[in-house]
Amino acid sequence: MRKKKVCILGSTGSVGKNALKVISDLNDRFEVSGLSAQSNVSLLAEQVNKFKPKAVAIGNEAKISELRKKIKGNVRIFAGEKGVEELAGQEEADIVLIAISGSASIRPTYSAVSHGKEIALASKEALVSAGHIIIREAKRRNSAIIPVDSEHSAVFQCLKGSDVSKVKNLYITASGGPLLGMPKRAFKNLSRKVVLKHPKWKMGKKISVDSATMMNKGLEAIEAKWLFGIDIEKIKILIHPEAIVHSMVEFVDGSVLAQLAITDMRLPIQYALSFPERYESMLKPLDLVSIRNLTFHKPDMNKFPSLGLAYKAAKEGGSVPCVLNSSNEIAVKAFLEGRIKFTDIPVIIEKILSRHKRIEFPSLEEIEEIERRTKAEVEEFCLSRS
Ligand code: MG
Repeated sequence: MRKKKVCILGSTGSVGKNALKVISDLNDRFEVSGLSAQSNVSLLAEQVNKFKPKAVAIGNEAKISELRKKIKGNVRIFAGEKGVEELAGQEEADIVLIAISGSASIRPTYSAVSHGKEIALASKEALVSAGHIIIREAKRRNSAIIPVDSEHSAVFQCLKGSDVSKVKNLYITASGGPLLGMPKRAFKNLSRKVVLKHPKWKMGKKISVDSATMMNKGLEAIEAKWLFGIDIEKIKILIHPEAIVHSMVEFVDGSVLAQLAITDMRLPIQYALSFPERYESMLKPLDLVSIRNLTFHKPDMNKFPSLGLAYKAAKEGGSVPCVLNSSNEIAVKAFLEGRIKFTDIPVIIEKILSRHKRIEFPSLEEIEEIERRTKAEVEEFCLSRS
């Protein structure tokens, strides 16, 4: 049997590492054709020496010689942003897994799609900021986009074979993050440690902060709109603390389809790589009897203002979701660096959104310009607070 060749962009991050575990477990089905990382040379070199891809890319160009020294055998090495984009279009790859955190995923996603690659998409920011460009290009090049995020994987599975015009609502479930049970007045002096401690999922830092503010769900709603071509008004967020139902689709006849599974990223990653097939998994099975109860309730929009900001941006469309995404990304970074408070994050996003002059169809260059400007504005805000 011919093995499926997988290129992983962002292989040293949380999704990337889990994808390599899946590939190790199913090494009779998959092999690695390419790997990339931004700057973690030690881990990247270790992965290259173990999985033996044809090519590797390091985002941070300054680290290329260090990488070259650590790699054994004949591996083609790319470097810099352009190098990651080149690897994304790699000829050998049957599927490109995009697991780069944040807006840095936009150009490589566009590159993979414009080369007609099948992609497994884990980076939601690419569609939030540049959905109109990426989806149009994917249709033009016949490139399939298979979601990796657990919620979108669930919706993708529930929708299989259905006409999207028959969808009444999508219910994206949310565990509620680490602050679900905490009163809003306690948010003021939250430490990074508390914010990063997610009750259900082990994830990277950026997405963990997004889970705490619930911006993650806002970004997921916008991502779902692009992935499935469903109006934002039909996409609802439902708090589900057990995190067993990963999302649901309600059809016009009242039938609701759900996908249930344990909380382990390896499952949606494996499905995205194996699609349209299903392979056996090493993960422990779901035991509904021991879980006993599944509960659902509405999110508290007052406690989590980021969620409302995301929906507002989604309705306005054009360049507004890109401003939402980049201001959030940079504010989260400032919070992780200890430069602003947790409660400053939505304040900054709202301020930057209020100043923005909307563009109907921003180009990739305009998207990058918005990011540069947002960064300067967030820096300005940080200075005014210190
Ligand atoms: Mg998710």
